[in-house]
Amino acid sequence: MPELLKKHALTLKNIATAKNIKNADQKITLLAVSKTKPSSMIRTLFGAGQADFGENYLQEAIEKQKELADLAINWHYIGSIQRNKTRDIANHFQWVHTVERTIIAKRLSDQRQKDLPALNVCIQVNIDAEASKSGCLPSEVADLAASILRYDNLHLRGLMVLPSKAGSDAFARTQALFYDTAHTLSAKNLALPHWDTLSMGMSADYADAIAYGATMIRVGSAIFGERA
Ligand SMILES: *Cc1c(COP(=O)(O)O)cnc(C)c1O
Repeated sequence: MPELLKKHALTLKNIATAKNIKNADQKITLLAVSKTKPSSMIRTLFGAGQADFGENYLQEAIEKQKELADLAINWHYIGSIQRNKTRDIANHFQWVHTVERTIIAKRLSDQRQKDLPALNVCIQVNIDAEASKSGCLPSEVADLAASILRYDNLHLRGLMVLPSKAGSDAFARTQALFYDTAHTLSAKNLALPHWDTLSMGMSADYADAIAYGATMIRVGSAIFGERA
């Protein structure tokens, strides 16, 4: 078995163990973050049953998608979004985790080809209000969610965070924000029909994230090895 597959099996086993900590019914999707890693590694993992891959850089992702066009991969965009790149982002991915502004959501919806299914999106939240990080503030989430609901070609799935450091209470606060947002919108008679995703947890802290309800963990180096 190649080294990569051994690591992958290990990661899946750790996830199964972490799951037992809290809720055995919690459904968790492993998003393999393949930025800077070659298509050949993605192909190998896909052959082992891994279907969801995350990329941060648009041009790099599009190159790999061409090389892997024969595989039914679910592509997730997890990088920052420049306004002039929204058309390609809208049409090359099944998921976008990094929506932080209404104007970007509107462009993704308007530019998504009508023959494609709705684009799944998460709101990126700057949960620790760090100057260096993307994402809207927790206090802005409910209004942004209400606007995104108006866009026909988007399915608003939930929240995505990159906390400042492991071991803080950021995952707990994100989980609370996830439920608060649903309550706030429901008090305004707004339904969130696809609200089921907490995208949080990376190589160093995914077990912790799972304990606080993560449904999608984004793991790169623990699967593929360190990036150069
Ligand atoms: C790179 C990246 C990851 C994966 O990080 P690892 O520490 O390698 O697991 C997850 N999420 C985002 C947004 C990233 O940019």
